[in-house]
Amino acid sequence: MDCEMVCNFKKCRKQLSGFAWVTSCSHIFCDEDGSREFNKSYACPACESSLSGKLDIIRIDLSPSEQYKSMVLAGQRPEVAIEVCARAIAFWTYQNHQEKVFQEYTITKTKDKQSQMEKYYDQVVSQTQAEIDALKSQISTTRKELENTVKRLNEVSSKLMERNRQYQKLQSMYDALRRQSLSVNNILSCGQSSQSMHAFPTEVREGRHDHHRPTPAQQFVLNPTSERPRNMVDNLADVQDRFNLQIGTPKEATRVQNKHK
Ligand SMILES: [Zn+2]
Ligand SMILES: [Zn+2]
Repeated sequence: MDCEMVCNFKKCRKQLSGFAWVTSCSHIFCDEDGSREFNKSYACPACESSLSGKLDIIRIDLSPSEQYKSMVLAGQRPEVAIEVCARAIAFWTYQNHQEKVFQEYTITKTKDKQSQMEKYYDQVVSQTQAEIDALKSQISTTRKELENTVKRLNEVSSKLMERNRQYQKLQSMYDALRRQSLSVNNILSCGQSSQSMHAFPTEVREGRHDHHRPTPAQQFVLNPTSERPRNMVDNLADVQDRFNLQIGTPKEATRVQNKHK
């Protein structure tokens, strides 16, 4: 049958059964802890009292035999037997009281710890709630900003489309004008062909490229500083020279031939 008492060794506190060690300072230990501790020193592991007396430490059987019960107090006078029983019951009462005090202390400590934990978690919860609220307001601000940005983007996009339409329109107008100017230029070129018929074919035949000659499109651009390229005049003189060579008088042709020799 198990005893209600527990081992008074702080780290053990197991319910006692079988054999136990009792001390004169009213402490009790399980067989393992008592054997170990009292082999080391005669000091109580619970209250550190010196236990050097002959009967200060006793190993007892918690389930005594019938013969032991018959003999342990046999021969004692009733008052002695009653006193022994009273002291044994006082020991038991003290142990129960100690256990009750210990349990109450544990409960108080656990309650304190619980209330501290509750406070801590209340703080954590309120802090987290505040963070959630802050994040929610941040999200709503960001959402508003996003909406505004999308709105502005749409506005800019429609403006860009409008500009693009205008650009396309201007581009087609420019293309039409350019084509018109090219055809006008071609007509003008044909009109001037009697004067410069020989100049251009000669240049093309000889592979000469005049990089300074403006293109028809460039000619269309009204440029106050634009003038006839200077080397075109030189070319005309050169061509005139050749012209004389081809259809000049025999005397003139001889002079030119001599000049070349
Ligand atoms: Zn123990
Ligand atoms: Zn003790």
